[in-house]
Amino acid sequence: MEKLGNPQETIAVLQKYKFNFQKKFGQNFLIDTHVLDKIVTSAQVNQEDCVLEIGPGIGTMTQYLAERAGKVIAVEIDKALMPILKDTLQPYDNVRIINNDILKVDIQSLVEEENQGKPIKVVANLPYYITTPIIMGLFESHVPIYSITVMVQKEVADRMQVGPGTKDYGALSLAVQYYAKPEIVANVPPNCFIPRPNVGSAVIRLTRHEIPPVKVADEKLLFRLIRASFNQRRKTLVNGLNNSSELSFGKEEIVMALEEMQLPATIRGEVLTLEQFGLLSDILSDRKK
Ligand code: SAM
Repeated sequence: MEKLGNPQETIAVLQKYKFNFQKKFGQNFLIDTHVLDKIVTSAQVNQEDCVLEIGPGIGTMTQYLAERAGKVIAVEIDKALMPILKDTLQPYDNVRIINNDILKVDIQSLVEEENQGKPIKVVANLPYYITTPIIMGLFESHVPIYSITVMVQKEVADRMQVGPGTKDYGALSLAVQYYAKPEIVANVPPNCFIPRPNVGSAVIRLTRHEIPPVKVADEKLLFRLIRASFNQRRKTLVNGLNNSSELSFGKEEIVMALEEMQLPATIRGEVLTLEQFGLLSDILSDRKK
């Protein structure tokens, strides 16, 4: 079999197996060899690496990864793709396919088993309907990860990368930047996929920080504050935090904390930096004691 990555080979495989695309699984397969090269190169995959691929589809990117990595673990939810993957990945003896929902896989145990607990690299053309839960799940579970290089919706990539004061800035920006350094490495138009998605896409590399850029006493509180601040974006920070069901701070307490930071009581969450959220979290957690 020819290597996948161009439209002809992809269509031939899909026809051979009479494959029907499942919209509910966010199936948009890559058919551009330059983009595939770009993703794998940006992920800096080498022979020492164990790579986790989420959603291999018909195995196009898996082939590229298998040629450069020591080992590839590919987790695919769609059972109908199993016979196809068996066929397209048959030449590679360093690939393990797991037929499961990535959100149900115990990735920690998998990393223990396959890579002796050493950090892995995650590389994927993600199903867009669950981009955020996948990325946040990987970070929050503290699975040893060196980097995550993924294709996502362009708008989501922008949100991960921006700072305060812009319309795209939000809970996702702060959460991602707490855990990793984000860099958009390529913009990818819809015609690089079959079928074409309705949105533009981008490849983003998230290189995990060894130490978070902000040190806080209570990480859970920091994330609750961030979520509450952006849940009601148009409200002031004081009202957003006061209204949150996840928090139990009174308005006065919050105003005093802001005063301590020399910030006005009318400020909105969307202008605070990660460092300022960190400081607010520490002041409020001190008051709880
Ligand atoms: N990697 C392939 C490519 O680039 O051509 C396919 C990418 S496609 C955007 C996303 C893939 O993720 C599909 O194969 C889809 O079936 C799979 N998928 C969707 N939801 C999933 C889940 N919860 N767990 C694992 N795989 C999933």
